[in-house]
Amino acid sequence: MKVTDHLARANGKTLFSFEVLPPRKGENIQTLFSNIEPLLEFKPPFIDVTYHREEYVYRQHPNGLLEKKTVRRRPGTVGICAAIKNRFDVDTVPHLICGGFSKEETENALIDLHFLGIDTVLALRGDPIKSEGSFKPQPDGHAYACDLIGQVANLNKGEYLDEEQDDTFATDFCIGTAGYPEKHFEAPNHAADVRYLKHKVDRGADYIVTQMFFDNAKFFEYVAQCRAAGITVPIIPGLKPLTGKKQLTALPRSFFINLPEELVEAVAQCRDDAAAREIGIEWCIQQSRELMAAGVPSLHYYSMGKSETIRRVAAALF
Ligand code: FAD
Repeated sequence: MKVTDHLARANGKTLFSFEVLPPRKGENIQTLFSNIEPLLEFKPPFIDVTYHREEYVYRQHPNGLLEKKTVRRRPGTVGICAAIKNRFDVDTVPHLICGGFSKEETENALIDLHFLGIDTVLALRGDPIKSEGSFKPQPDGHAYACDLIGQVANLNKGEYLDEEQDDTFATDFCIGTAGYPEKHFEAPNHAADVRYLKHKVDRGADYIVTQMFFDNAKFFEYVAQCRAAGITVPIIPGLKPLTGKKQLTALPRSFFINLPEELVEAVAQCRDDAAAREIGIEWCIQQSRELMAAGVPSLHYYSMGKSETIRRVAAALF
């Protein structure tokens, strides 16, 4: 079932959902299953699976020179989606990105997903490859998520890239898109970012999932801005319990977000990661309670490969 159908069926009740990463190349899928299992008691209607594109690494060649290689450390998004759906009977949402895909490869990937019975995708642009600085689309790929959303929406109307094709079937994907309560790092300002978000919805996005945030006031303000801009689709908050002291610097650096002073001070004073994790869990519970009281459609947690902290947060709420 599509994410928007799950939200409609919930009848105003806040759902519990989460995001997982495909295992690193060489890791067993069992580890991922073991991370998901403890969260099933909270009845997630859908689980997101991230997509990770290639990275460039430099390796020493036997001739002594450095060699540039392309590696994908976490392949398998589509396979993982099918495996989770099959094993746990939970709907899965693969993340689909523009980066690294030509339009035709995107079309083929969508057909694979359709055949697997997957009916929701989260359509994203993807981050720039680390060593490249700025995002570079494939020669025949999309530069922005709005164009990827447009392609999925066209396929939903039975419009394929090859116009000569006849005897076509139409897919019926529900399309999610990303939103940034603290602004996307490349956007010149909040207003422009919200204007582009509106454009993504106008091209066919059915719901929004936000980047993680630690200050609910920013989320509430963002939702108000979106509504004022005419965006009416559901907005699902993305949350992450802080799990260690290093995240005080790592999260703002990786996700271009701010951490509230009160949280930073409390974590900075912790003796070790275990103590910091307790603060992180409590903070996330308080955030979740307030969001729930405000009637958000789902609380969507970023597992980043670990589920125990999410389990503890969910146990306090659901
Ligand atoms: P876009 O909506 O295309 O926006 C990118 C930038 O361009 C923004 O600054 C926006 O304001 C601007 N912009 C948008 N449209 C236009 C336009 N038409 N003209 C000019 N400027 C425009 N990355 C992954 O690689 N894999 C994942 O699985 C993944 N999952 C994610 C899940 C969530 C919930 C979120 C919030 C992010 C995720 N990301 C993932 C990261 C995401 O790919 C990056 O944040 C990326 O830099 C932007 O993606 P986007 O879809 O928001 O891009």
